[in-house]
Amino acid sequence: MEKLHTITKETQVQPISSMLNYNGFYGEFGGAYIPPVLAAPLEKLADFFDSEARKESFQKEFIHYLKTYVGRPSPLYYAKRLSEHIGSKIYLKREDLNHTGSHKINNTIGQILIAKSMGAKEIIAETGAGQHGVATATAAALIGIPCKVFMGAIDVKRQTLNVRRMKFLGAEVISTDLGTQTLKDAVDAALGYYIENPESYYLLGSQVGPHPYPKMVGYFQSVIGQEARNQILDTEGRLPDSIFACVGGGSNAIGLFSGFFDDVEVEILGAEGGGNATLDNTAATLSMGKPTIFQGTYSYCLVDTEGNPVESHSIAAGLDYPGISPQHSFLKESNRAKYFAVTDKEAIAAYKLISELEGIIPAIESSHAVALADKILKGQNRLAIINLSGRGDKDVEREF
Ligand SMILES: *Cc1c(COP(=O)(O)O)cnc(C)c1O
Repeated sequence: MEKLHTITKETQVQPISSMLNYNGFYGEFGGAYIPPVLAAPLEKLADFFDSEARKESFQKEFIHYLKTYVGRPSPLYYAKRLSEHIGSKIYLKREDLNHTGSHKINNTIGQILIAKSMGAKEIIAETGAGQHGVATATAAALIGIPCKVFMGAIDVKRQTLNVRRMKFLGAEVISTDLGTQTLKDAVDAALGYYIENPESYYLLGSQVGPHPYPKMVGYFQSVIGQEARNQILDTEGRLPDSIFACVGGGSNAIGLFSGFFDDVEVEILGAEGGGNATLDNTAATLSMGKPTIFQGTYSYCLVDTEGNPVESHSIAAGLDYPGISPQHSFLKESNRAKYFAVTDKEAIAAYKLISELEGIIPAIESSHAVALADKILKGQNRLAIINLSGRGDKDVEREF
């Protein structure tokens, strides 16, 4: 595997100048809109990350775990039968083959090493379907730091397998009765605990929240795009025409996309959880939302007529979040990337398609990206990469 870029000004330079993220802004999006008690701990974290992640010792340890524990590099697989079906040459970036079954482990390993270096005594995290909770509990067990995972009471009931996995890994699962008792409320509960206990390390699971989280998460996931770019150049001798990823909070997508920001000829496409494509049943934040401040950052968000954040709806728990990464908001506004809502129905069709054509049961989240690629590339004879963000074992018991 190629060495990850160290975080220097040179390697952060993107073709669009305000993509430079020295202080947590991507254009007008991002920042840290937080209660004053969190200002000092988050500033400390931002400074610590900037210096620690540059160190060779940190890079070595991170890459060591990515290789020997996560199983990287993940293959870039030529999906022959899917390609014939779509009428374009399709490669799948196999994040589903990572330890714990998705891209989330790239971020939790990176952040747990930051937490360890900072001397954190406790890890806290939020989770919706439990995927990030499991990835965090795994990383915390690996390094040996106690871990509390906050989860909405409804999700605790719905996701018994992941709750059991987290407990088995030694984490404490804390059920919250706030609000709708789902992901958004788990974030509020974890933030509330963090405000009371700012010496804990809050390990955020997607490219959302206040600075420095979008920067850190984007950095740890950038390994996906760096690998994919090298792999496609090795096998095809050229860059892809288009790249696709599903977008929930935006972390797997930014991981793939960031490897190709400088390659202006590569078309970047994101698939949002469209629900049934109506305003009161969607998770398509960029397609149907408005910029506002939500959970610590200024970014697009699903809002009601008064501008208040509302609940999202998607068949895919990982996409079911009313907010979005500020970097994706910026990519949308600057037209470097395009985002489309993919409905539940379209995602289910793609889920079945890949299972039958390729012998790969994808996560229902990742199936959104495949559905979008199918729509846009049909008969186009183009070269494309789709990020397969995770495996679908978690979804097979559901009646689609
Ligand atoms: C959590 C999850 C997602 C959505 O999160 P992002 O931060 O948008 O990547 C997508 N796919 C899988 C498999 C997930 O577990």
